[in-house]
Amino acid sequence: MTKTLITLGMWAAAAWLISTWAGETAGWALLVAGLVCMILVSARQLSQITRWTRNVDDPPPPSVGPWDDILAVVYRRLRRNQQELSDLNRHMDGIMLAAEALPDGAITLNEEMQVTWCNSVASEHTGLDLAKDKGFSIFNIVRAPEFAAYARQSEWPEPLLLHLSHGDTERSLLVQLTRYGDRQFLIVGRDVTQMEKLETTRKDFVANVSHELRTPLTVLAGFLETVHDLPPESLSDEQREHYYHLMMEQAGRMQALVDDLLTLSTLESSPSTAGTPVRLAPIIDHALRQAKILSKDQHVFVANIDPELQINGIEAELGSAVGNLLTNAVRYTPKDGTITVSWYKTESGQACYSVQDTGIGIASQDIPRLTERFYRVDRGRSRATGGTGLGLAITKHVAMRHGAELNIRSRVGAGSTFSLDFPPSRVIARHA
Ligand code: ADP
Repeated sequence: MTKTLITLGMWAAAAWLISTWAGETAGWALLVAGLVCMILVSARQLSQITRWTRNVDDPPPPSVGPWDDILAVVYRRLRRNQQELSDLNRHMDGIMLAAEALPDGAITLNEEMQVTWCNSVASEHTGLDLAKDKGFSIFNIVRAPEFAAYARQSEWPEPLLLHLSHGDTERSLLVQLTRYGDRQFLIVGRDVTQMEKLETTRKDFVANVSHELRTPLTVLAGFLETVHDLPPESLSDEQREHYYHLMMEQAGRMQALVDDLLTLSTLESSPSTAGTPVRLAPIIDHALRQAKILSKDQHVFVANIDPELQINGIEAELGSAVGNLLTNAVRYTPKDGTITVSWYKTESGQACYSVQDTGIGIASQDIPRLTERFYRVDRGRSRATGGTGLGLAITKHVAMRHGAELNIRSRVGAGSTFSLDFPPSRVIARHA
Protein backbone atom coordinates (compact mmCIF):
# COMPACT_ATOMS: atom_id res chain seq x y z
CA MET A 1 0.00 0.00 0.00
CA THR A 2 2.76 2.44 1.06
CA LYS A 3 4.81 1.48 -2.01
CA THR A 4 1.82 2.16 -4.29
CA LEU A 5 1.13 5.54 -2.63
CA ILE A 6 4.81 6.56 -2.94
CA THR A 7 4.85 5.61 -6.67
CA LEU A 8 1.57 7.51 -7.23
CA GLY A 9 3.01 10.53 -5.33
CA MET A 10 6.14 10.45 -7.49
CA TRP A 11 4.08 10.44 -10.71
CA ALA A 12 1.90 13.31 -9.37
CA ALA A 13 5.00 15.35 -8.40
CA ALA A 14 6.57 14.75 -11.85
CA ALA A 15 3.25 15.76 -13.53
CA TRP A 16 3.07 18.93 -11.44
CA LEU A 17 6.70 19.82 -12.32
CA ILE A 18 6.01 19.24 -16.02
CA SER A 19 2.76 21.31 -15.83
CA THR A 20 4.67 24.32 -14.40
CA TRP A 21 7.28 24.02 -17.14
CA ALA A 22 5.39 22.75 -20.21
CA GLY A 23 1.81 23.58 -19.43
CA GLU A 24 -1.11 21.94 -17.64
CA THR A 25 -2.01 19.61 -20.53
CA ALA A 26 1.47 18.08 -20.54
CA GLY A 27 1.20 17.61 -16.76
CA TRP A 28 -2.16 15.79 -17.05
CA ALA A 29 -0.81 13.69 -19.90
CA LEU A 30 2.18 12.60 -17.81
CA LEU A 31 -0.08 11.76 -14.86
CA VAL A 32 -2.38 9.66 -17.09
CA ALA A 33 0.68 7.93 -18.65
CA GLY A 34 1.98 7.22 -15.15
CA LEU A 35 -1.36 5.75 -14.05
CA VAL A 36 -1.55 3.55 -17.18
CA CYS A 37 2.03 2.35 -16.49
CA MET A 38 1.11 1.51 -12.91
CA ILE A 39 -2.00 -0.40 -14.06
CA LEU A 40 0.06 -2.36 -16.65
CA VAL A 41 2.77 -3.27 -14.12
CA SER A 42 0.09 -4.29 -11.65
CA ALA A 43 -1.63 -6.45 -14.29
CA ARG A 44 1.68 -8.15 -15.08
CA GLN A 45 2.31 -8.83 -11.37
CA LEU A 46 -1.19 -10.24 -10.97
CA SER A 47 -0.70 -12.56 -13.91
CA GLN A 48 2.60 -13.76 -12.35
CA ILE A 49 0.73 -14.42 -9.09
CA THR A 50 -2.07 -16.24 -10.93
CA ARG A 51 0.52 -18.46 -12.60
CA TRP A 52 2.11 -19.20 -9.20
CA THR A 53 -1.23 -20.17 -7.64
CA ARG A 54 -1.36 -23.10 -10.08
CA ASN A 55 1.70 -24.57 -8.38
CA VAL A 56 1.88 -23.23 -4.87
CA ASP A 57 4.58 -25.73 -3.87
CA ASP A 58 7.13 -23.53 -5.70
CA PRO A 59 8.35 -20.34 -4.03
CA PRO A 60 6.26 -17.26 -5.07
CA PRO A 61 7.54 -15.05 -7.96
CA PRO A 62 10.18 -12.55 -6.82
CA SER A 63 9.50 -8.78 -6.75
CA VAL A 64 5.80 -8.53 -7.42
CA GLY A 65 5.76 -5.05 -5.95
CA PRO A 66 3.09 -4.46 -3.33
CA TRP A 67 2.18 -8.19 -3.37
CA ASP A 68 5.57 -9.25 -2.04
CA ASP A 69 4.62 -8.93 1.64
CA ILE A 70 1.25 -10.67 1.24
CA LEU A 71 2.75 -13.53 -0.76
CA ALA A 72 5.53 -14.04 1.79
CA VAL A 73 2.94 -14.49 4.58
CA VAL A 74 0.72 -16.76 2.45
CA TYR A 75 3.70 -18.88 1.37
CA ARG A 76 4.99 -19.24 4.93
CA ARG A 77 1.52 -20.36 6.13
CA LEU A 78 1.24 -22.78 3.21
CA ARG A 79 4.62 -24.34 4.01
CA ARG A 80 3.65 -24.77 7.65
CA ASN A 81 0.33 -26.42 6.69
CA GLN A 82 2.11 -28.76 4.31
CA GLN A 83 4.60 -29.72 7.00
CA GLU A 84 1.77 -30.39 9.47
CA LEU A 85 -0.10 -32.44 6.88
CA SER A 86 2.91 -34.60 6.10
CA ASP A 87 3.59 -35.09 9.86
CA LEU A 88 -0.03 -36.12 10.25
CA ASN A 89 0.20 -38.51 7.31
CA ARG A 90 3.36 -40.06 8.71
CA HIS A 91 1.67 -40.46 12.09
CA MET A 92 -1.37 -41.99 10.43
CA ASP A 93 0.80 -44.41 8.41
CA GLY A 94 2.51 -45.43 11.67
CA ILE A 95 -0.87 -46.15 13.32
CA MET A 96 -2.03 -48.15 10.28
CA LEU A 97 1.22 -50.13 10.25
CA ALA A 98 0.84 -50.85 13.98
CA ALA A 99 -2.77 -52.00 13.44
CA GLU A 100 -1.57 -54.17 10.56
CA ALA A 101 1.17 -55.65 12.73
CA LEU A 102 -1.29 -56.67 15.49
CA PRO A 103 -1.20 -60.41 16.13
CA ASP A 104 -5.00 -60.26 16.51
CA GLY A 105 -7.58 -59.57 13.85
CA ALA A 106 -9.10 -56.06 13.97
CA ILE A 107 -12.20 -54.85 12.09
CA THR A 108 -13.73 -51.38 12.37
CA LEU A 109 -17.44 -50.82 11.73
CA ASN A 110 -19.57 -47.72 11.33
CA GLU A 111 -22.77 -47.13 13.29
CA GLU A 112 -24.69 -49.34 10.84
CA MET A 113 -22.24 -52.14 11.62
CA GLN A 114 -20.81 -51.90 8.12
CA VAL A 115 -17.15 -52.69 7.57
CA THR A 116 -14.92 -49.63 7.24
CA TRP A 117 -11.49 -51.23 7.63
CA CYS A 118 -9.77 -54.46 8.69
CA ASN A 119 -6.22 -55.70 9.06
CA SER A 120 -4.82 -58.69 7.19
CA VAL A 121 -5.12 -61.03 10.23
CA ALA A 122 -8.88 -60.35 10.30
CA SER A 123 -9.05 -61.07 6.55
CA GLU A 124 -7.29 -64.37 7.18
CA HIS A 125 -9.64 -65.24 10.06
CA THR A 126 -12.94 -64.34 8.39
CA GLY A 127 -12.20 -64.33 4.66
CA LEU A 128 -13.05 -60.61 4.59
CA ASP A 129 -11.75 -58.86 1.46
CA LEU A 130 -11.65 -55.12 2.11
CA ALA A 131 -11.64 -54.21 -1.58
CA LYS A 132 -14.92 -56.08 -2.07
CA ASP A 133 -16.57 -56.04 1.35
CA LYS A 134 -15.98 -52.46 2.52
CA GLY A 135 -19.37 -50.89 3.27
CA PHE A 136 -21.10 -54.26 3.66
CA SER A 137 -22.76 -55.31 6.89
CA ILE A 138 -20.56 -57.47 9.12
CA PHE A 139 -23.48 -59.88 9.47
CA ASN A 140 -23.15 -60.75 5.77
CA ILE A 141 -19.52 -61.67 6.34
CA VAL A 142 -19.60 -63.36 9.76
CA ARG A 143 -22.75 -65.40 9.38
CA ALA A 144 -22.75 -67.26 12.70
CA PRO A 145 -26.10 -66.67 14.50
CA GLU A 146 -24.37 -66.52 17.88
CA PHE A 147 -22.26 -63.61 16.56
CA ALA A 148 -25.40 -61.75 15.43
CA ALA A 149 -26.93 -62.25 18.88
CA TYR A 150 -23.71 -61.09 20.56
CA ALA A 151 -23.32 -58.01 18.34
CA ARG A 152 -26.89 -56.92 19.07
CA GLN A 153 -26.23 -56.72 22.82
CA SER A 154 -25.90 -53.20 24.18
CA GLU A 155 -22.71 -53.99 26.13
CA TRP A 156 -20.01 -56.63 25.61
CA PRO A 157 -18.41 -57.32 28.98
CA GLU A 158 -17.25 -60.81 27.87
CA PRO A 159 -15.68 -62.02 24.63
CA LEU A 160 -17.51 -64.58 22.46
CA LEU A 161 -16.01 -67.91 21.38
CA LEU A 162 -16.80 -68.41 17.70
CA HIS A 163 -16.14 -71.44 15.54
CA LEU A 164 -15.69 -70.31 11.97
CA SER A 165 -14.86 -72.32 8.90
CA HIS A 166 -13.38 -70.51 5.98
CA GLY A 167 -12.18 -72.55 3.00
CA ASP A 168 -11.12 -75.85 4.48
CA THR A 169 -9.72 -74.36 7.69
CA GLU A 170 -11.73 -74.40 10.86
CA ARG A 171 -10.90 -71.78 13.43
CA SER A 172 -11.86 -71.02 16.98
CA LEU A 173 -11.86 -67.25 17.50
CA LEU A 174 -12.28 -65.33 20.71
CA VAL A 175 -14.11 -62.21 19.57
CA GLN A 176 -14.52 -58.97 21.55
CA LEU A 177 -16.66 -56.09 20.37
CA THR A 178 -16.06 -52.53 21.66
CA ARG A 179 -17.62 -49.17 20.96
CA TYR A 180 -15.26 -46.29 20.18
CA GLY A 181 -15.30 -42.71 18.87
CA ASP A 182 -18.59 -41.42 17.56
CA ARG A 183 -20.80 -44.56 17.41
CA GLN A 184 -18.18 -46.69 15.74
CA PHE A 185 -17.29 -50.26 16.62
CA LEU A 186 -14.12 -52.28 16.83
CA ILE A 187 -13.98 -56.08 16.66
CA VAL A 188 -10.84 -57.75 17.94
CA GLY A 189 -10.53 -61.49 17.21
CA ARG A 190 -7.90 -63.84 18.64
CA ASP A 191 -7.23 -67.25 17.13
CA VAL A 192 -7.50 -69.77 19.98
CA THR A 193 -7.68 -72.91 17.81
CA GLN A 194 -4.39 -74.22 19.12
CA MET A 195 -5.28 -73.47 22.74
CA GLU A 196 -8.62 -75.22 22.31
CA LYS A 197 -6.92 -78.25 20.80
CA LEU A 198 -4.50 -78.36 23.73
CA GLU A 199 -7.39 -78.14 26.14
CA THR A 200 -9.17 -81.01 24.35
CA THR A 201 -5.97 -83.06 24.38
CA ARG A 202 -5.61 -82.40 28.10
CA LYS A 203 -9.20 -83.45 28.79
CA ASP A 204 -8.83 -86.56 26.59
CA PHE A 205 -5.63 -87.41 28.40
CA VAL A 206 -7.23 -87.20 31.83
CA ALA A 207 -10.18 -89.28 30.59
CA ASN A 208 -7.83 -91.88 29.09
CA VAL A 209 -5.71 -92.16 32.21
CA SER A 210 -8.80 -92.57 34.38
CA HIS A 211 -10.13 -95.21 32.02
CA GLU A 212 -6.81 -97.09 31.89
CA LEU A 213 -6.58 -97.13 35.70
CA ARG A 214 -10.20 -97.99 36.29
CA THR A 215 -10.09 -101.33 34.48
CA PRO A 216 -7.31 -102.96 36.53
CA LEU A 217 -8.65 -101.30 39.68
CA THR A 218 -12.11 -102.80 39.13
CA VAL A 219 -10.63 -106.24 38.53
CA LEU A 220 -8.39 -105.93 41.58
CA ALA A 221 -11.26 -104.76 43.80
CA GLY A 222 -13.41 -107.65 42.53
CA PHE A 223 -10.79 -110.25 43.44
CA LEU A 224 -10.17 -108.68 46.83
CA GLU A 225 -13.89 -108.77 47.58
CA THR A 226 -14.14 -112.40 46.53
CA VAL A 227 -11.17 -113.44 48.67
CA HIS A 228 -12.50 -111.38 51.59
CA ASP A 229 -16.10 -112.63 51.40
CA LEU A 230 -15.43 -116.32 50.93
CA PRO A 231 -14.85 -118.36 54.06
CA PRO A 232 -11.11 -119.20 54.23
CA GLU A 233 -11.73 -122.94 54.03
CA SER A 234 -13.74 -122.66 50.77
CA LEU A 235 -10.58 -121.70 48.80
CA SER A 236 -7.85 -124.18 48.14
CA ASP A 237 -4.23 -123.01 48.38
CA GLU A 238 -4.00 -123.36 44.64
CA GLN A 239 -7.05 -121.17 44.05
CA ARG A 240 -5.78 -118.60 46.52
CA GLU A 241 -2.40 -118.60 44.76
CA HIS A 242 -4.17 -118.15 41.43
CA TYR A 243 -6.16 -115.17 42.71
CA TYR A 244 -3.06 -113.57 44.19
CA HIS A 245 -1.28 -114.02 40.90
CA LEU A 246 -4.13 -112.32 38.98
CA MET A 247 -4.23 -109.47 41.48
CA MET A 248 -0.51 -108.93 41.19
CA GLU A 249 -0.88 -108.84 37.42
CA GLN A 250 -3.43 -106.01 37.69
CA ALA A 251 -1.28 -104.15 40.23
CA GLY A 252 1.64 -104.57 37.82
CA ARG A 253 -0.41 -103.02 35.02
CA MET A 254 -1.22 -100.02 37.15
CA GLN A 255 2.42 -99.75 38.20
CA ALA A 256 3.56 -99.82 34.56
CA LEU A 257 1.03 -97.13 33.64
CA VAL A 258 2.03 -94.87 36.51
CA ASP A 259 5.73 -95.38 35.69
CA ASP A 260 5.13 -94.42 32.05
CA LEU A 261 3.08 -91.40 33.08
CA LEU A 262 5.86 -90.25 35.39
CA THR A 263 8.43 -90.75 32.63
CA LEU A 264 6.32 -88.66 30.25
CA SER A 265 5.80 -85.94 32.80
CA THR A 266 9.56 -85.81 33.57
CA LEU A 267 10.32 -85.59 29.85
CA GLU A 268 7.86 -82.74 29.46
CA SER A 269 8.97 -80.77 32.47
CA SER A 270 12.74 -81.07 32.34
CA PRO A 271 14.65 -78.77 29.97
CA SER A 272 16.46 -80.32 26.99
CA THR A 273 20.20 -80.51 27.49
CA ALA A 274 23.09 -81.55 25.29
CA GLY A 275 23.71 -84.39 27.73
CA THR A 276 26.93 -86.34 28.15
CA PRO A 277 28.71 -88.90 25.96
CA VAL A 278 26.75 -92.17 26.06
CA ARG A 279 27.92 -95.50 24.67
CA LEU A 280 24.72 -97.18 23.57
CA ALA A 281 26.06 -100.75 23.25
CA PRO A 282 25.75 -101.67 26.99
CA ILE A 283 22.29 -100.08 27.11
CA ILE A 284 21.17 -102.14 24.10
CA ASP A 285 22.70 -105.28 25.68
CA HIS A 286 20.70 -104.69 28.83
CA ALA A 287 17.48 -104.09 26.83
CA LEU A 288 18.17 -107.25 24.80
CA ARG A 289 18.45 -109.31 27.98
CA GLN A 290 15.09 -107.93 29.16
CA ALA A 291 13.53 -108.60 25.75
CA LYS A 292 14.76 -112.18 25.79
CA ILE A 293 13.13 -112.71 29.19
CA LEU A 294 9.87 -111.29 27.81
CA SER A 295 10.19 -113.45 24.68
CA LYS A 296 10.53 -116.65 26.73
CA ASP A 297 12.75 -118.06 24.00
CA GLN A 298 10.04 -117.76 21.41
CA HIS A 299 11.94 -115.43 19.06
CA VAL A 300 15.23 -115.37 17.25
CA PHE A 301 17.35 -112.33 18.11
CA VAL A 302 20.02 -110.93 15.78
CA ALA A 303 22.21 -108.04 16.93
CA ASN A 304 24.52 -105.83 14.82
CA ILE A 305 25.88 -103.42 17.39
CA ASP A 306 28.81 -101.04 16.99
CA PRO A 307 30.36 -101.37 20.47
CA GLU A 308 32.23 -98.04 20.33
CA LEU A 309 29.64 -95.72 18.76
CA GLN A 310 28.80 -92.90 21.19
CA ILE A 311 26.38 -90.00 21.09
CA ASN A 312 25.76 -87.03 23.34
CA GLY A 313 22.56 -87.63 25.23
CA ILE A 314 20.78 -88.51 28.45
CA GLU A 315 21.44 -92.12 29.38
CA ALA A 316 18.19 -92.84 31.23
CA GLU A 317 16.05 -91.42 28.44
CA LEU A 318 17.95 -93.30 25.76
CA GLY A 319 17.60 -96.49 27.81
CA SER A 320 13.84 -96.05 27.92
CA ALA A 321 13.55 -95.46 24.13
CA VAL A 322 15.84 -98.38 23.26
CA GLY A 323 13.90 -100.71 25.58
CA ASN A 324 10.46 -99.60 24.33
CA LEU A 325 11.21 -100.39 20.69
CA LEU A 326 12.63 -103.79 21.61
CA THR A 327 9.80 -104.86 23.91
CA ASN A 328 7.26 -103.75 21.27
CA ALA A 329 9.02 -105.93 18.69
CA VAL A 330 8.68 -108.92 21.04
CA ARG A 331 5.04 -108.16 21.90
CA TYR A 332 3.90 -107.69 18.31
CA THR A 333 5.88 -110.54 16.73
CA PRO A 334 4.39 -114.02 16.85
CA LYS A 335 6.35 -117.06 17.99
CA ASP A 336 9.45 -117.97 15.93
CA GLY A 337 9.71 -114.49 14.43
CA THR A 338 13.07 -112.76 14.08
CA ILE A 339 14.02 -109.51 15.77
CA THR A 340 17.07 -107.71 14.44
CA VAL A 341 18.63 -104.91 16.49
CA SER A 342 21.22 -102.62 14.89
CA TRP A 343 23.29 -99.70 16.12
CA TYR A 344 25.59 -98.17 13.52
CA LYS A 345 26.89 -95.00 11.94
CA THR A 346 25.50 -94.23 8.48
CA GLU A 347 27.53 -92.93 5.55
CA SER A 348 26.08 -89.46 6.08
CA GLY A 349 27.40 -89.45 9.65
CA GLN A 350 24.11 -90.13 11.46
CA ALA A 351 23.88 -92.69 14.27
CA CYS A 352 21.03 -95.13 13.75
CA TYR A 353 19.37 -97.46 16.24
CA SER A 354 16.90 -99.75 14.52
CA VAL A 355 14.69 -102.63 15.57
CA GLN A 356 13.32 -104.78 12.78
CA ASP A 357 10.79 -107.53 13.37
CA THR A 358 8.91 -110.05 11.28
CA GLY A 359 5.74 -109.44 13.27
CA ILE A 360 2.14 -108.51 12.59
CA GLY A 361 2.99 -105.17 10.95
CA ILE A 362 0.93 -101.97 10.93
CA ALA A 363 -1.46 -100.60 8.31
CA SER A 364 -0.20 -97.40 6.66
CA GLN A 365 -3.14 -95.30 7.93
CA ASP A 366 -2.26 -96.19 11.54
CA ILE A 367 1.45 -95.35 11.30
CA PRO A 368 1.16 -91.53 11.70
CA ARG A 369 -0.98 -91.98 14.84
CA LEU A 370 1.19 -94.52 16.68
CA THR A 371 3.02 -91.91 18.73
CA GLU A 372 -0.23 -90.39 20.07
CA ARG A 373 -0.78 -91.15 23.71
CA PHE A 374 -2.91 -94.25 24.24
CA TYR A 375 -3.27 -94.91 20.52
CA ARG A 376 -3.26 -98.65 19.88
CA VAL A 377 -4.00 -100.52 16.70
CA ASP A 378 -5.18 -103.59 18.55
CA ARG A 379 -6.26 -102.62 22.05
CA GLY A 380 -6.77 -106.23 23.17
CA ARG A 381 -3.32 -107.38 22.06
CA SER A 382 -1.66 -104.34 23.62
CA ARG A 383 -3.37 -104.93 26.98
CA ALA A 384 -2.83 -108.69 26.91
CA THR A 385 0.91 -108.16 26.48
CA GLY A 386 1.12 -105.54 29.23
CA GLY A 387 1.15 -102.45 27.02
CA THR A 388 0.30 -99.04 28.43
CA GLY A 389 -0.22 -97.29 25.09
CA LEU A 390 2.45 -94.76 26.04
CA GLY A 391 5.67 -96.47 24.89
CA LEU A 392 5.94 -94.83 21.47
CA ALA A 393 4.79 -91.44 22.83
CA ILE A 394 7.73 -91.63 25.26
CA THR A 395 10.11 -92.79 22.51
CA LYS A 396 9.07 -89.94 20.21
CA HIS A 397 9.58 -87.45 23.02
CA VAL A 398 13.05 -88.81 23.77
CA ALA A 399 13.87 -88.62 20.05
CA MET A 400 12.80 -84.98 19.89
CA ARG A 401 14.87 -84.09 22.94
CA HIS A 402 17.90 -85.59 21.21
CA GLY A 403 17.26 -83.92 17.85
CA ALA A 404 16.59 -87.41 16.47
CA GLU A 405 13.81 -88.72 14.24
CA LEU A 406 11.66 -91.73 14.97
CA ASN A 407 11.05 -93.43 11.61
CA ILE A 408 8.55 -96.24 11.17
CA ARG A 409 8.31 -98.52 8.15
CA SER A 410 5.84 -101.35 8.24
CA ARG A 411 3.65 -103.65 6.20
CA VAL A 412 0.73 -105.64 7.57
CA GLY A 413 1.74 -109.24 7.98
CA ALA A 414 5.34 -108.64 6.93
CA GLY A 415 6.78 -106.87 9.97
CA SER A 416 8.01 -103.45 11.02
CA THR A 417 11.20 -101.46 11.35
CA PHE A 418 11.39 -98.72 13.95
CA SER A 419 14.49 -96.58 13.83
CA LEU A 420 15.89 -93.68 15.81
CA ASP A 421 18.13 -91.53 13.60
CA PHE A 422 20.43 -89.22 15.53
CA PRO A 423 21.94 -86.22 13.66
CA PRO A 424 25.73 -86.14 13.01
CA SER A 425 26.03 -83.23 15.48
CA ARG A 426 25.14 -85.67 18.30
CA VAL A 427 27.65 -88.30 17.23
CA ILE A 428 30.99 -88.30 19.04
CA ALA A 429 33.91 -88.53 16.66
CA ARG A 430 36.18 -91.53 17.15
CA HIS A 431 39.89 -90.92 17.70
CA ALA A 432 42.04 -92.70 15.12
P1 ADP B 1 1.57 -100.22 23.62
O1 ADP B 1 1.87 -100.18 25.06
O2 ADP B 1 0.13 -100.37 23.31
O3 ADP B 1 2.45 -101.14 22.86
P2 ADP B 1 3.03 -98.17 22.24
O4 ADP B 1 2.94 -96.69 22.31
O5 ADP B 1 4.34 -98.80 22.53
O6 ADP B 1 1.88 -98.72 23.14
O7 ADP B 1 2.59 -98.61 20.78
C1 ADP B 1 1.40 -98.10 20.24
C2 ADP B 1 0.78 -99.10 19.27
O8 ADP B 1 1.65 -99.25 18.14
C3 ADP B 1 0.65 -100.48 19.83
O9 ADP B 1 -0.54 -100.63 20.55
C4 ADP B 1 0.66 -101.34 18.58
O10 ADP B 1 -0.63 -101.37 18.02
C5 ADP B 1 1.56 -100.56 17.63
N1 ADP B 1 2.95 -101.12 17.60
C6 ADP B 1 4.02 -100.68 18.27
N2 ADP B 1 5.12 -101.39 17.94
C7 ADP B 1 4.72 -102.30 17.05
C8 ADP B 1 5.40 -103.35 16.31
N3 ADP B 1 6.71 -103.57 16.46
N4 ADP B 1 4.66 -104.08 15.45
C9 ADP B 1 3.36 -103.86 15.29
N5 ADP B 1 2.64 -102.89 15.94
C10 ADP B 1 3.33 -102.13 16.80
